[in-house]
Amino acid sequence: MEQLAPTPALPPEPKLPPARERVGPINERLSPIYPAFDGLTHENTLQLVIATMLSAQCTDARVNTVTPALFARFKTARDFAECDIKELRRLIKPTGFYKSKAKNIRACCAEIVARFNGEVPNTLDELVTLPGIGRKTANVILGHAFDTPGITVDTHVGRLARRLGLTRHRNAVKAELALMEIVPQEEWTNFSHRLILHGRAVCRSRKPRCEKCVLADLCPKLGVKGLAKKRKRKKKKGSPQRTQRARSKTASK
Ligand code: SF4
Repeated sequence: MEQLAPTPALPPEPKLPPARERVGPINERLSPIYPAFDGLTHENTLQLVIATMLSAQCTDARVNTVTPALFARFKTARDFAECDIKELRRLIKPTGFYKSKAKNIRACCAEIVARFNGEVPNTLDELVTLPGIGRKTANVILGHAFDTPGITVDTHVGRLARRLGLTRHRNAVKAELALMEIVPQEEWTNFSHRLILHGRAVCRSRKPRCEKCVLADLCPKLGVKGLAKKRKRKKKKGSPQRTQRARSKTASK
């Protein structure tokens, strides 16, 4: 019997430099694609606070369709704090989750009036005490309204940072602190903004488009191989509904 030639071993994967050295080139490659933040239309800090709260689970483009009428109707924190909740809900309805958003916006503005004399506070510690404002929203506000850079770790930033091998932490605060160690401070706001946009456009949660990604040679793609296997396993098993349908078909034969 003819002897098969042994399969040549695959060349070893090129070893990537440590995260601290890759973060600069990663940011440089993303910056022409995703220039500085210009997502949420606003004219003052209060408007940015409201728009950021509305942007939860919603696109910036959709938020921008509702804010002109909203900001024309309510101008100050007191206006929002004393508004008719039904009117507020109606105005923000297209952004989704409008009942809880309206409740948070009104409560947040009431606190701004009561504790900060109607002015949005400018520190992380104070911002996170306001209803509806977590670290992520607070960092967006600090970075864009007060020129105080901050790393915003949302689901996209966390996922990309792990895939890119910039941090292993799943906890948002720990990931934020780890990124602050390796990203230059003046780039904190824009770097996280770029990861968010890259996560939405290319490095998607279930199907990252590594073959089209400008970061492919800088990225160890941690956890990405496992994703393909998971997808295959799921396909084989079929969705529960499909399995159910298949079972009832067999039963009816
Ligand atoms: S190479 Fe793949 S895993 Fe890495 S950032 Fe790009 S899309 Fe995400």
